[in-house]
Amino acid sequence: IIELKNIKKVFDDTVVVEDFNLEVKKGEFVTFLGPSGCGKTTTLRMIAGFEFPTEGQILLNGEDISHLPPNLRPINTVFQRYALFPHMNVYDNVAFGLNLKHLPKSVISEKVRRVLEVVDLEGFENRKISTLSGGQQQRIAIARAIVNEPDILLLDEPLGALDLKMRKEMQLELKSMHEQLGITFIYVTHDQEEALTMSDKVVVMSDGMIQQIGTPEEIYNEPKNAFVADFIGESN
Ligand code: ATP
Repeated sequence: IIELKNIKKVFDDTVVVEDFNLEVKKGEFVTFLGPSGCGKTTTLRMIAGFEFPTEGQILLNGEDISHLPPNLRPINTVFQRYALFPHMNVYDNVAFGLNLKHLPKSVISEKVRRVLEVVDLEGFENRKISTLSGGQQQRIAIARAIVNEPDILLLDEPLGALDLKMRKEMQLELKSMHEQLGITFIYVTHDQEEALTMSDKVVVMSDGMIQQIGTPEEIYNEPKNAFVADFIGESN
């Protein structure tokens, strides 16, 4: 269980996240939804340990991890902005983190084989990254993250670069991957429809503040204020 308590983040003199309170249960699929610049990525980066909160606490199973750097957190991240290694093949990209752990070669290759199956790219081990489509590359990035069996997976607009058809396909795949793996997903998007389709819980944000937390049904049927109603309505 991860808890964010009264989180505030200030860059220079600008408050970018404020009064942020949230509980994420084990295995939940939680999405931060809001317009560009509302503080979604900053919040995700604080959960990952790339940024520390100015005020407030982040608790992981009751332990205060607010100021722990990423390598000391049992959290693995896929950031769409963090590219794969284009000169390396699929196997070496996916095995990268495992190689650092000095596991036996046979264990590594079995783990890689299994995650490639999960992302539906079995047999792609020897393909160069540069020969894959955008969607295949994003699936490899996801495979690279889940191969380390994280407790929590943080996804920052992982489908951002895809065309509509591929986005829809990957939404379904990510959702079924989430169900298969039992990993907690914290997902960032500015796409209302994506958030409502995939999540157990949606956190609607604007200007660094939470506007509403609820199930997709609650957010859609009972928007708490005009901002949520307008923002959700824009997709229809
Ligand atoms: P987007 O969907 O465009 O990525 P976002 O909701 O993820 O937006 P953030 O990236 O969290 O928003 O940014 C929130 C605000 O914080 C923005 O105004 C941004 O300019 C500012 N900001 C983010 N990182 C820094 C930083 N390192 N230094 C100063 N300001 C920052």
